[in-house]
Amino acid sequence: ERFEDFGLSEEILLAIQKKGYEKPTEIQKIVLPYALSTDKDLIAQAQTGTGKTAAFGIPLLERIDFKANKFVKAIIVTPTRELALQIFEELKSLKGTKRVKITTLYGGQSLEKQFKDLEKGVDIVVGTPGRIIDHLNRDTLDLSHVEYLVLDEADRMLDMGFLDDVLEIIKRTGENKRTFLFSATMPKEIVDIARKFMKEYIHVST
Ligand code: AMP
Repeated sequence: ERFEDFGLSEEILLAIQKKGYEKPTEIQKIVLPYALSTDKDLIAQAQTGTGKTAAFGIPLLERIDFKANKFVKAIIVTPTRELALQIFEELKSLKGTKRVKITTLYGGQSLEKQFKDLEKGVDIVVGTPGRIIDHLNRDTLDLSHVEYLVLDEADRMLDMGFLDDVLEIIKRTGENKRTFLFSATMPKEIVDIARKFMKEYIHVST
């Protein structure tokens, strides 16, 4: 398969080309057609380095109506500041010329700047659990209109002690969303999240 086979918009295809991606990776070959053509959830067992960010990022960028309103439309929860920054950079380059406001929320970054960004209106948030919870508690972040929730490296968040934070974040998002869960392994706590909070999904492993 080629990226041209997935019915992507010209602006995203151009952005992919600019990044120098010649063909989709294994996970992208499975996730892209599924995520672009259905509204169902997804569990993917994939490690970093497999191209998983573009696998979830391209569908978000293609399918969300970014002109609709000022609400946060997608939130990506990831265990570390480094991963948050990597995802942020990947999304920024993949969006091409699309007008999409993306921001990071992680600890150590100035709260004042984060308040200002959130107040102006952000489409996509990429953050770590602790700082996301901090904003939820301060009522500076509203997740009730989220259309896409991505839990990235869920097993690592569990190992780092973020399970309760992740559960709280899930609860603060509305019902009408899609959930993409990425985890290299599937310990019981992660299986429970899928059972309790996810709708119909496919389970992909690469
Ligand atoms: P990830 O697993 O999302 O962290 O991606 C690992 C690396 O692969 C990143 O540097 C991406 O920019 C790169 N990458 C993602 N998709 C492709 C692709 N289709 N072709 C070449 N490189 C890619």
